[in-house]
Amino acid sequence: MILIDKTYSKAIKLSFRQAVVDKALQRRASFFNRHPAPTSVINYFSDMRLLQLAFAPPPRLGRMISQLHGRFPVLQERYLPKVFFADFPCTTQALDNFTSLDLRSHRAQAQSISSTLKAQLHAYNLNKGSHLIAAILTDPPTGPDLATFRDAIASFASCLYGSGRIDASIFPAWVNNLHKLFSYGDVTQAVAVELINHLDITICPYCNQEEIEKLTAIDGSVDYRPAIDHFYPKALYPFLGISLYNFVPSCDKCNSNYKQEIDTFHNGYAHPFLYGVSAHPLIDFDYDPLAYMHGNGRMENLGLRVIPQGTPLDNNLNIFSIQTRYRSSQNIQNLKDYAELAFSAGAYQTILNVNTNYLICFLYHPLRPALKHQHKKLKYDFLRRLTTLTPPF
Ligand SMILES: [Zn+2]
Repeated sequence: MILIDKTYSKAIKLSFRQAVVDKALQRRASFFNRHPAPTSVINYFSDMRLLQLAFAPPPRLGRMISQLHGRFPVLQERYLPKVFFADFPCTTQALDNFTSLDLRSHRAQAQSISSTLKAQLHAYNLNKGSHLIAAILTDPPTGPDLATFRDAIASFASCLYGSGRIDASIFPAWVNNLHKLFSYGDVTQAVAVELINHLDITICPYCNQEEIEKLTAIDGSVDYRPAIDHFYPKALYPFLGISLYNFVPSCDKCNSNYKQEIDTFHNGYAHPFLYGVSAHPLIDFDYDPLAYMHGNGRMENLGLRVIPQGTPLDNNLNIFSIQTRYRSSQNIQNLKDYAELAFSAGAYQTILNVNTNYLICFLYHPLRPALKHQHKKLKYDFLRRLTTLTPPF
């Protein structure tokens, strides 16, 4: 992953504010009219806060997520139940033991577990304030019957430990509709292109492999809107739908196929405005220099693997399947071609010397930034493995 080492200028921020953020400020009052919320919520999402959310750079953006979840845990419960219930005292096994019981043949046992479970849920929820648990326990005056309670626990367990979806109907409308206040729909094609032009990115920062297409028609209009990824997914963080530093121009594959809606905040992923690969080796190649030289610069086999970095970058490399994607037959063939080109240009004679003139034989451009240079890091590591050159990165 390549670091996006740019910030937004005052002019870009002003343009973004006028095109996008001002619309959110204007709809704020009508949003809370339509979706009533406690005064604390309405006061919290003030004009100032909306502006802060829109423009906070990544370290502060992360702190704002924590602060928001701390003030309004309901947002975490609704959108990130696994995080919200991380301290839930019952194991998946304990819940399974109850939900898998046949009520006809083990009614007494089920009744007994159900009583214990209800007491546990009640005690847990005294401080937790979970809407979900309150809904499970609410069925006055005698409490939910055994079968209803068992079904509710089964679906609760599926949200906590499986892939079950949370029942949104039990949450307040302002929680369910918050994405409408921070409407990504206002980020039009023109706005998206302006942002990407400013960042000046042509190769996806996540994979450094795919082009970020921004096709222009003959009349100058944009013919293809590049994908903009929400680094912290807006499906999980609806209040970050129009946060400038949550936008990462990316290729469609990284955006839609690989990353999807993974919680990048709580699982230690590296934010591309903060972290990127460095000169430290990332890719290793199974290449034998002697066989290469004796084979007149030809390689029969060439494999590569991603070297774990021991940093949050490893999560990003995994999520985007960099090793698998870089091992594609076309990539391997390209690397062999670069090596043969260099060999035929005589680079092998200088293999132990530093001669940056040969870098171009590998289609490596020392001065071109990695955000505009496909596979720059891959080629950099390959050069260092193939020769003793230490190219500028
Ligand atoms: Zn990509």
